[in-house]
Amino acid sequence: MMPTNPVSAMAEGNMLQIIVFALLFGMAVTMSGARGKHVLNFFSDLDVVIMHMVEWIMRLAPYGVFALITRTFATQGLDLLLPLAAYFLTLTVALAIQMFGTYPLLLRLLGSLDPLTFLKKMRDPAAFAFSTASSGATIPVTLHTVEHKMGVKNSIAAFSVPLGATINMDGTAMMQGVATVFIANVYGIDLTMTDYLLVVLTATLASVGTAAVPGVGLVTLTMVLGQVGLPVEGIALIIGVDRLLDMMRTVCNVTGDCAVSCIVAKSENAIDQSVFNDPNAGSIESATRHSIPTPPTP
Ligand code: ASP
Repeated sequence: MMPTNPVSAMAEGNMLQIIVFALLFGMAVTMSGARGKHVLNFFSDLDVVIMHMVEWIMRLAPYGVFALITRTFATQGLDLLLPLAAYFLTLTVALAIQMFGTYPLLLRLLGSLDPLTFLKKMRDPAAFAFSTASSGATIPVTLHTVEHKMGVKNSIAAFSVPLGATINMDGTAMMQGVATVFIANVYGIDLTMTDYLLVVLTATLASVGTAAVPGVGLVTLTMVLGQVGLPVEGIALIIGVDRLLDMMRTVCNVTGDCAVSCIVAKSENAIDQSVFNDPNAGSIESATRHSIPTPPTP
């Protein structure tokens, strides 16, 4: 993980070393005051320039993907459809376990909060995350839900929700793990136990680095594939079904942000339990109930 030579790590595409170097470099830039600011500006500008190039490539991508998928299906036949369906189903079940098993369990064990009440209140952010496939675009709805429906104080929510939307992407990490195993199977490449551990580690780091917008999880998947020596073209196999999976994994990501916000707020004594337990809290009816004073009785 620790690069002895970051330049050669970049030349060889050693993603884990590159990520570790980038994390340390980013921290150092932040802590370097005014001089660090020049470096930060340089990299911000470089980011804009590179994104322009990425935009050109993305415009060309549909034609490239069409050619890649045609070649894959022409050489491997329709037999590939069954593993693809299995990939889709495996990931869907994994996301469901995370949303309806892991998070509720954490809420109960670490926050002593009722998971059922939590899940009911997740309706709006989940619907918004599903339709936009972007945790970033969902932030206003997530923030409103966490603060007004779940009773988390603004001092916690205003920090944990944007931070969670940026770095907490369990659904994305899970997709990258399942996709890597699927692609390895299709190409007939055996992964060793060390490879699996590397996949877990790289997928976690790659999901942290994934931007909270649609489809980026697929871009950072290249890091995971590169780390275990799988061909990047493998992404063409799953790109066709990724939009729907992206919508689902974004719901999982946003649910995680809300669950963690509630747990942290509970541990900091910054959650209003009566708001959390009120099924109508934060809704329009409750807003009007609270803001329109009842007329005095004669
Ligand atoms: N769409 C995801 C999100 O915004 C990121 C991804 O997995 O592509 O949370």
